[in-house]
This record gives sequence, C-alpha cells and structure tokens, in this order.
Amino acid sequence: MQSSQKEHLYKILVIGDLGVGKTSIIKRYVHQTYSTNYRATIGVDFALKVLNWDSETVRLQLWDIAGQERFGNMTRVYYREAMGAFIVFDVTRPTTFEAVTKWKEDLDSKLTLANGKSITTVLLANKCDQSKDILVNNGLKMDQFCQENGFVGWFETSAKENLNINEAANFLVKHIIASE
Ligand code: GDP
Ligand code: MG
Repeated sequence: MQSSQKEHLYKILVIGDLGVGKTSIIKRYVHQTYSTNYRATIGVDFALKVLNWDSETVRLQLWDIAGQERFGNMTRVYYREAMGAFIVFDVTRPTTFEAVTKWKEDLDSKLTLANGKSITTVLLANKCDQSKDILVNNGLKMDQFCQENGFVGWFETSAKENLNINEAANFLVKHIIASE
C-alpha cells in the first residue's frame, strides 16, 4: 500500500528567564532524563522529538537558549519560522513571572505568521513540585492572564517529577495543527 503519511516539522521555541527550567523541560521531554546541573553554554541548542499523531508524524524541533536570557530578548533570526512557543517561569520566583509578558512582547514584536497572527504560545509554570505561592496568589486569574496576554493555555509542570510536560506539548501541537 502506498504510504500517504503526512509529516509535519515544527520549530518550537522555549523561552523565559535564566534558571526557570527550560533546558530541564527539554531534556525530560526528549531524553527522559533530569539533572540538577545543566551547563549554560552560550548559544542555541536543538532537540528533536518525534510524535505519532493520528496517522501522521510530527517532528518537534525544540530550540533551547543559553546565556542570552539575561537580556530578555532574542534576535529575529532565532525566532524565524517558529510555529509555536513555550514561555516558562519558575513558580518559586515572582520576577520570572513578571518577565513572562516581556518575553511574549519580544516574541510577538519579532515574529508573526503569514496570516498576521502571533504564533501559538503556551505558558508553563515550572517547578510545581515546590512552593506555589505565585499561583496561589494569582488563583484562578491564570486563565484570565492567558486570555489577556495571548496564551492558548497554561500548565503547571515539573521537569523534576515529570509532571504535565507531555500534556503541555500535546496541547501545543493540537493547537498548531488546528491553526494550520
Ligand atoms: P534554564 O536556565 O531555564 O535552562 O534552567 P535549567 O533547566 O538549567 O534549570 C535550572 C535549575 O532548576 C536546575 O538546577 C534544575 O535542576 C532546576 N529545575 C528545573 N526544573 C525543575 C523542576 O521542575 N523542579 C525543581 N525543583 N527544580 C527544577
Ligand atoms: Mg538552559
């Protein structure tokens, strides 16, 4: 039988402040590993995750950044042709949540899809195995925050305990495919 398998290749950005767990989330998702010490080598790193999606194949090319986070912005070249993004913050550090809107603005100012829309973006509240004061204080307002700031949704994640990372990725892919 002739294969009519459709393939999708999506560039996915993983951005957010230094130390929020971007590299840990990618390593957990792609390599099923976790370590407390990933070297922050300067530059961009890639990891590929292949998913069977119905009868189709989805290749997620996850773009990690290291060393540039402290500037709070990236070059257009880095964002180019991305189809989706995770913006990550650390539930134990309020400043990393405050930076979320800054990251979203940087992304939207440098990248729009051909149809003029901004790319599909999911918010990750990482390190949810630890104290979640930020989320508790925001309570149900996280959904509202997502609506007001153009996120399709949010997830509490833990790279350490492998919580919700697959769910968040599937949610992102579902939205990207629906928007194509
Ligand atoms: P990045 O700078 O955003 O890439 O952050 P890293 O992935 O290097 O993580 C920074 C630190 O936070 C490391 O010591 C990780 O082990 C730790 N970390 C990452 N994710 C989690 C998590 O879900 N829970 C906890 N408790 N620590 C985490
Ligand atoms: Mg990193």
